[in-house]
Amino acid sequence: MATINRNYDKLEGGYLFSEIVRRTKVFQEKHPGVILLRLGIGNTTEALTPSIIKGLQIGVAKLADPKTYTGYGDEQGDIRLRSAFVDWYKKRGIKLTTSEIFISDGAKPDSANIQSIFGEKSIIAISDPAYPVYVDAAIIGGRKVVYMSCTKENGFIPSLPNEKVDIMYICSPNNPTGAVATKKQLQLFVDYARAHKAIIIFDAAYSEYISDPDLPKSIYEIPGAKTCAIEINSFSKWAGFTGVRLGWTVVPLDLIVEGTEKGKVNSLWNRRQITMFNGASNIAQVGGLAVLSAQGQKECEELIVYYMKNAGIIKNGLVKIGLKVFGGENAPYIWLKTPNDLSSWEFFDKLLNESHVVGTPGSGFGPCGEGYLRLSAFGHREDIERAVKSIEKNLKL
Ligand code: PLP
Repeated sequence: MATINRNYDKLEGGYLFSEIVRRTKVFQEKHPGVILLRLGIGNTTEALTPSIIKGLQIGVAKLADPKTYTGYGDEQGDIRLRSAFVDWYKKRGIKLTTSEIFISDGAKPDSANIQSIFGEKSIIAISDPAYPVYVDAAIIGGRKVVYMSCTKENGFIPSLPNEKVDIMYICSPNNPTGAVATKKQLQLFVDYARAHKAIIIFDAAYSEYISDPDLPKSIYEIPGAKTCAIEINSFSKWAGFTGVRLGWTVVPLDLIVEGTEKGKVNSLWNRRQITMFNGASNIAQVGGLAVLSAQGQKECEELIVYYMKNAGIIKNGLVKIGLKVFGGENAPYIWLKTPNDLSSWEFFDKLLNESHVVGTPGSGFGPCGEGYLRLSAFGHREDIERAVKSIEKNLKL
């Protein structure tokens, strides 16, 4: 007799975006002529840059000729791309080998799938609020979740868990709060992990949005992190690959957890990928190589400057009308405190009805997100400017 995984019934996450769609649809039906300004979704909008398009086209052209055609590649990723990452990390003072780097089809699947190589009884500590996939994957796997509160009092950087935990998710720069952890803050987590034989899963999907040279872009900038941290990253927000799909995960050979020797966790992730993943798209990987070229990195930096200018426009506009805002510096998200103690959904409705702007209610990212709303800097400049003008002009405070 087949049964289903009842843990799926315990999930809440799907409610957030379907409820945004529902409320937006109701508004649109009542006001058919109104153009909605969407600052809710963290989806990239600008075209891929010229050298990356060229890289992808090279990838396609290779498939047109049997002499250069490739089918399945290495599950761990194209060795040229992994070698390029070794050089990329080296320039940041981080020494890695190609066998520690696993190319993937994105950070979201890896941040969920990585849980499968750890014990079923692992207690997982997750920031509240957080990118929903960490919690949902833990619930689906039947694991216990402990929340680490992120509030304005702790600058939205979680304090260490109160109880002993086994796995800690840290996302910096953070989605949804836009907070970025300092080296000192990350050192506390590394020290905790080493003392408790716990591990850190560090989601660095927005690392390239950091322009402040004092802020760490990688967990491996923190002494001791190679023995206790896995880093997950993505081309999505860095290079606009949200639809192309390409990411990578670093599992250091020095990493150890309770009852294992060095290399064991790395070999488990390798085994998991060989068994359940058939490698990232070969076209996307040639595109990834183009991103890592000197010209590609320069162009992606310009793309990020564009989105961060959007963040500045949103932040300045909101501050001008007296709203309390966080994030938006070294991160593409603005975390806005709702005025007059409105709930996240009440403020979502107010912003929609009065300014025709769609945000994302903070409560959808966890209980500590209640009373906040997330605005995203991903959008065309003219749409961002229109949205901010509309908020300035029409929002009744
Ligand atoms: N990690 C964080 C924190 C994100 O916000 C996102 C996307 O919004 C992802 C991962 C997803 O990355 P990818 O597109 O590589 O799956």
